[in-house]
Amino acid sequence: MRGLADLVVWDVPLTTRFRGLTRRDGVLVRGDAGWGEFSPFWDYDDDAAVRWWRAAREASDEGWPTPVRTHVPVNVTVPAVDPEHAHRIVTASGGCRTAKVKVAEPGQPAGADEARLEAVRDALGPDGAIRVDANAAWDVDAAAAALAALDRAAGGLEYAEQPVPGVDDLAALRRRTHVPLAADEAVRRGDDPLAVVRRHAADVLVLKVQPLGGVRACLRLAEEAGLPVVVSSALESSVGLAAGLALAAALPELPYACGLATAALLADDLVADPLLPRGGVIEARRPEPDPALLDAARATPALVARWDARLTAVRARA
Ligand SMILES: [Mg+2]
Repeated sequence: MRGLADLVVWDVPLTTRFRGLTRRDGVLVRGDAGWGEFSPFWDYDDDAAVRWWRAAREASDEGWPTPVRTHVPVNVTVPAVDPEHAHRIVTASGGCRTAKVKVAEPGQPAGADEARLEAVRDALGPDGAIRVDANAAWDVDAAAAALAALDRAAGGLEYAEQPVPGVDDLAALRRRTHVPLAADEAVRRGDDPLAVVRRHAADVLVLKVQPLGGVRACLRLAEEAGLPVVVSSALESSVGLAAGLALAAALPELPYACGLATAALLADDLVADPLLPRGGVIEARRPEPDPALLDAARATPALVARWDARLTAVRARA
């Protein structure tokens, strides 16, 4: 790692528009335990980004708890693309037997979600599992109707991730659909991540290491929640994904495939051997950043200045 500073701001293009983004950027931070990633999306304010910073420092200064498994089953993520593209993504997924399909993308015509799900089912075959993620786009009535239609189109849904915003709406929807519900935004963006459990508002919790403050914080949350957990990425580079794999590898039980197969959504990664799935699983390992790749991904001075200001503000709050 000679020649690299302890903080590196990086910026890479995405292969597909995702979460409204065409690029992904962040900071790598190096400490005694290795490299950590700090990459809160820009719509997170400085207070919320403190937890992302804690996760980065846990990685760089402490490392992660002892794993109980060496490989983590993962889902392929299918963005809100057309059916042919969706089919190709699943076929090229490295053997994933579970697909997470983005639905309810604004501006798409009626029936686009159903067509995408039919294509995914065709690519996966009858024994694959399909889950959808609506990123809280629907109200309760719309979600109840949409999930019935999408469940049919998919030939059965494993679960629906955050079809509606907030804990109240999830709890209300849960009484109106037989599709199991997973809480994502309700866990990581609320003040109280466990409200969803107390209100019986979800069947599954989606945990993301950075927004929840680190691997150990997520392990505590999972233990307190007593619900099945799916570990998902925040669209990190493979340096950040390694923390998600460390969490998934350390959980006592892991009944569902995790959302950690997102390295391929980055056109360029920061490591020479990215954390990509083979045979539907990713090995829980921790690749080192590659100096040449890190150099190629180096951010413009303007973006470095923006991250510098953000880091200063976040560290003052941490
Ligand atoms: Mg989600």
